[in-house]
Amino acid sequence: MPELPEVETTKASLMPLIDQKVVAVQVRESRLRWAIPEDISKLRGQRLIQLTRRSKYILAEFEQDTMLWHLGMSGSFRLCEANTELRKHDHFILQFEDFELRYHDPRRFGCILWLDQNSQTKLIDTLGPEPLSDVFNAEYLTSKLKSKNVGIKVAMMDNHIVVGVGNIYATESLFNLGIHPAQPASSLSKSQIEKLVIEIKRILKQAIDLGGSTLRDYSNAMGENGYFQQTLLAYGRAGEMCVNCETTLENLKLGQRASVFCPQCQALKKVKPTSNTVKFVQGKTK
Ligand SMILES: [Zn+2]
Repeated sequence: MPELPEVETTKASLMPLIDQKVVAVQVRESRLRWAIPEDISKLRGQRLIQLTRRSKYILAEFEQDTMLWHLGMSGSFRLCEANTELRKHDHFILQFEDFELRYHDPRRFGCILWLDQNSQTKLIDTLGPEPLSDVFNAEYLTSKLKSKNVGIKVAMMDNHIVVGVGNIYATESLFNLGIHPAQPASSLSKSQIEKLVIEIKRILKQAIDLGGSTLRDYSNAMGENGYFQQTLLAYGRAGEMCVNCETTLENLKLGQRASVFCPQCQALKKVKPTSNTVKFVQGKTK
């Protein structure tokens, strides 16, 4: 599944389209996660002004209208010459003056919508902060985790806490810090939270620098593959040896997602009762 770094990489590779005018619009299959809007042809004649990313959405601002694009499970954009042969699953085509932009999506979970179209797109308003922004810091994360009794990995992947930390990045960050993925979020120490914030930022930046890529068949709009997956130490390696201690990596299902970890390096810490629990047990309040 394309994650934040792949979406960032995709957005960057579409930058040559800025200031270009749409000369033709073609919908070959409108049934994506939500149908491509029927009035999509009104993009014809509009220049692309700006491309930005929010979480895993690309916002494409044209002269009159803004679109919200999401790659879903298997979507990708490709920039090519107009006469390039079409591929199966090329569902949506915007022909610009110098290039053609093609949206390819075998599983059709992606979306091509107007930003203000309907309630689906309002999802974007309830999202937590961007992990690479200054708003996402130790103080913020501490305030969000203190009442969370879910495992830290589930909390890291909660879009209301922080956006775009997918399974791969959550798995790798926790492995690098020696934190068990099921460790209750509220039990992390101040220093663990500080390190976690730094590690999430580091790993996402590294993935973006390496061109994204996590997904076996991921490639950016120029058809270049990312290299990040070659650096993974835990994700996708269940049953293999830990690079630090040679213990066999295990897989744990958390929040419906596979969570690979080293039972030796990431031992589950016993949680001390919090002061609240003690008060409750003693039946006293201060
Ligand atoms: Zn280990």
